[in-house]
Amino acid sequence: ESFREWETKSTLTTCPYCGVGCQLELITKGNQVVDSKPYKGPSNNGLLCVKGKFGYPFINHPDRLKTPLIKKNGKFEEASWEEALNLIVSKIKETKEKYGANALGGFTSARCTNEENYLFQKLFRAAIGTNNIDHCARLCHASTVSGLATTLGSGAMTNSINEVLDSDVIFIIGSNTTENHPVIATKMKQAKKKGAKIIVADPRKIELADKADIFLQIKPGTNIAVLNGMMNYIIENELYDKDYIEERTENFEEVKESLIEYTPEKVAEICGVNKDDIIKAARMYAESDKAGIYYAMGITQHITGTNSVMAISNLALMCGNVGKENAGVNPLRGQNNVQGACDMGGLPSDLPGYQKVFKEEIAEKFEKAWGVSLPREVGMTMSEILDSVKMLYIMGENPMLSDPDINHVKHSLERIDFLVVQDIFLTETAELADVVLPAASFAEKDGTFTNTERRVQRVRKVIESIGDSKADWQILMEIMNKLGYPQKYRHPSEIMEEIASVTPQYGGITYDRIETEGIQWPCLDKDHPGTKYLYKDAIARGKGLFFPVYHTGSAETTDKEYPYILTTGRVLYQYHTRTMTGRVEKLNEKVPESYIEINEVTANKLGVKDSEKVKVTSRRGSIDIKVKVTDIVEDNVMFIPFHFAEGAANYLTNTKADSAAKIPELKVAAVNVEKIQRS
Ligand code: SF4
Repeated sequence: ESFREWETKSTLTTCPYCGVGCQLELITKGNQVVDSKPYKGPSNNGLLCVKGKFGYPFINHPDRLKTPLIKKNGKFEEASWEEALNLIVSKIKETKEKYGANALGGFTSARCTNEENYLFQKLFRAAIGTNNIDHCARLCHASTVSGLATTLGSGAMTNSINEVLDSDVIFIIGSNTTENHPVIATKMKQAKKKGAKIIVADPRKIELADKADIFLQIKPGTNIAVLNGMMNYIIENELYDKDYIEERTENFEEVKESLIEYTPEKVAEICGVNKDDIIKAARMYAESDKAGIYYAMGITQHITGTNSVMAISNLALMCGNVGKENAGVNPLRGQNNVQGACDMGGLPSDLPGYQKVFKEEIAEKFEKAWGVSLPREVGMTMSEILDSVKMLYIMGENPMLSDPDINHVKHSLERIDFLVVQDIFLTETAELADVVLPAASFAEKDGTFTNTERRVQRVRKVIESIGDSKADWQILMEIMNKLGYPQKYRHPSEIMEEIASVTPQYGGITYDRIETEGIQWPCLDKDHPGTKYLYKDAIARGKGLFFPVYHTGSAETTDKEYPYILTTGRVLYQYHTRTMTGRVEKLNEKVPESYIEINEVTANKLGVKDSEKVKVTSRRGSIDIKVKVTDIVEDNVMFIPFHFAEGAANYLTNTKADSAAKIPELKVAAVNVEKIQRS
């Protein structure tokens, strides 16, 4: 659409897509968002990827939900807010009376603001009385939260995005940074130009593998083996940081012992890589002064996710890379506010600020602040909630596409007596709801998102809500009021004041202070400048804990019936379940449909050519999908992006989960592939 500059207004806000948290200006004409321009924010320095630049048209898209919907005789009918909210509140009361508060559960949202996540868990904990709250971090970094909480004391990126620019070595394992955190990948490449060395370990030959000094194309599910192999060599050759280990860590001897069997020879065999490359990578990492490790779901989405995270932590501690600038352990958080949703207590065991629900003094502190008594028992996780509650409230999530084993998810959602979905579009999950509430998008409300480097940044209202939709915080407040737990926030800034009063890491954060630039937590009080990198003086748990971990393989192995390994992930042009990017022409046309990557050798074995259709079957389901013959994957390994409803990868994926973090093994499923037709 063409427009004249004088007719438009420009408002600074935060990109709604990924955890990099790029700052951008949304240009509006009347109540329409007509353009997006990069802004020189602290994390993006004026850079934006295609989603930040072109991904805004979903905001004014005609498909936006504009009015509440109530399902009557299997069909949605438009309803007033009064009618929809009264129905929800009466169902909450009825369910609680009949079955108790734990028969209710809620999925909060990594897409929503901190203030909304805070209110969502407050609604469930204080007004309803259950800790059954979870969100999609269960599918991405739950293993980071549990692994790093054990070894370091806090599950977040230790360092800042821009520190990558001055690292000597950048070790990327299980992160396709170019597709998932594009602006960070650009900075990694800038660092390379300045002389940094890059090591990549991944089952796929991702774009950064081309830039790498060493590329370890490991078999899916062998992260611990490769990390342990590197550490074995580092110990054998005394390349570790003795003084650091002595002063700042504990339990080194036990880990040293546990690594004896992980010789580079043995590990090379397990991982399917060259022994010399493991040795080179170990030397490169250990001999550098400042080495940062960057990882994402290639590490966490395994039954060994928590242990893999601890293996990363062991390696970083061994070489003195924790508590140092330009180094660290850096989990890259996927969604725009998944860090914030965790920080705000969108987890069954944690109140805001990772304060445990079962700790008496913590529970008492919140009881005093909120004026109610609170449950002490840890709530259920996502899949447990899906399998057992009577009433489920989903805010801005789409488990019908994002969760493993979709057939099972559908069965569970249909089993639930009463399902509420609050979203900006009628998603695959919303289709199954009893009541749908139309929410405002990020462009229609004030608030904050916390990016992957712990930076709390402003989200600003740039247009009025579309139709009758309302900001999620307003909806949640109205429900609490109707439940007889009155809440009187006039603006999200007042919610942030409350967050700061109960959450130590956010203690000094106010809207005034983050007007022009966000602040990185921990920010303990009004005079605290925020924290660029963690553990400079002390590691959160006191000393860094070495924790022995062993390679155990994946839950599912290949056999005659299912002879191939399927792994899943994302592409640059689509986001998550495509509720937003699927409605943006410029993005959608780049990758409009799903596909399966198959290596040429495997394709020949199967007798399939590029663009032909195949049937892919796992022990849980089957899909028809187009073939993309490529050398990105190795023989017998395949890849499907999980974004698409048609040919959805998650019909095939495994629900078997990491025992500590309950994160399902989305990265490894055994499948069979058969040719079905020529296209
Ligand atoms: Fe948005 Fe992430 Fe792209 Fe930045 S890198 S513009 S935050 S999607």
